[in-house]
Amino acid sequence: MGVDAERVYVGLDIGGTKLMVAAADETGRILRRVRASTPPGLDDGLTLLHQMIAEVAEGTHVAGIGAAVGGPLDARQGVVSPLHQPHWRDVPLKTLMEARWSCPFFVDVDTNVAAAGEYAADRAGVPRFLYLTLSTGMGGGFLIDGKIYRGSRDAHPEVAHQAIPFRCTFPERVTCECGAPDCLEALVSGNGIRRIYGKAAEHLSDTEWSEVAYNLGQGLRNIATIYAPDLIILGGGVAVGGGEMLIGEATRVMTRHLKLVPAPDVRLSQLGYDTALYGALLIARQGLD
Ligand SMILES: [Zn+2]
Repeated sequence: MGVDAERVYVGLDIGGTKLMVAAADETGRILRRVRASTPPGLDDGLTLLHQMIAEVAEGTHVAGIGAAVGGPLDARQGVVSPLHQPHWRDVPLKTLMEARWSCPFFVDVDTNVAAAGEYAADRAGVPRFLYLTLSTGMGGGFLIDGKIYRGSRDAHPEVAHQAIPFRCTFPERVTCECGAPDCLEALVSGNGIRRIYGKAAEHLSDTEWSEVAYNLGQGLRNIATIYAPDLIILGGGVAVGGGEMLIGEATRVMTRHLKLVPAPDVRLSQLGYDTALYGALLIARQGLD
C-alpha cells in the first residue's frame, strides 16, 4: 500500500478480436494490464472496457486515457466506426469516456497510435518513419519528424488499400472488405489470407508464404516509391508470425522493383503485440500531436 502512483494514465488497444488495457505512471511505466476477447455487441464492449479501466486503475485517479482503434474515425471529435467491428458505428467514444472518467481522452487510428508507440520506444530521430501493421486487417502510420502525417480534412491515408500486381494461386478469391478487388490488404492481411488459403497465417506452407511475401514486397515498393521513407517497421500478428523470412523476402521483392528511389530499411517491430498499447499510453500522457 502507498507505493503505487496516486494517479495513472490508461491506454486502450481496442481490436476486432481482443481488448488490451494498461495503466501506467507519469513516465509510461506499465503498472497493471489486462486483456479480454472483444464482445460482438457495442454495449457489451463498452461495459467491458469500463470494467477493465476500473480494474487497472485500482481506485487511483485516472489522469488521462488514450485509445487505439481501427479506422475510419474522427480523431478530433473522437467518433469511431472501426471497419472490422461492424457493431461499432459512429460511436462517440470521446464523449462517453470523458463523461464516465472525468479526464481528457484521446483516440486515433490504431496504426497511427502504434507508429507513435514504436517511434517513442525505439526509433526517435528517424525523420521519415512508416509503421505498418499486418494483423486481421492492414494499415499504416507515417511520422515526419515525429509528427503524424494526416491527409486532407484529417483523412487517414490507407496504404493497405492500394492495387498491386499480385501473385495468387486462387485469384478468384481475392476480394477486399473495402469493396475493391485487388487491394494489398486482401492479399496479405490475416482475413485476406484466411479467405484465399482457407486457413490462418500460422498454417501457411512455404509456397503460400512466398506468395504473401511477393505481394507484400509489391506493396512496399509502391509505398517506398511514393513516400520515400527512411525506415519501414512492420508489426502485427501476421508480420510477427512470418518473421524474418517474410520480411527478408518482401524486402528483396521491393528492392528488385524499386528503380528511382533509395530502398528504405525494412524491419520487424521489437514490441511484439504491444505497439498500439504503448502508443495509447503515450497519447494518454501527451495528447495528440
Ligand atoms: Zn481495400
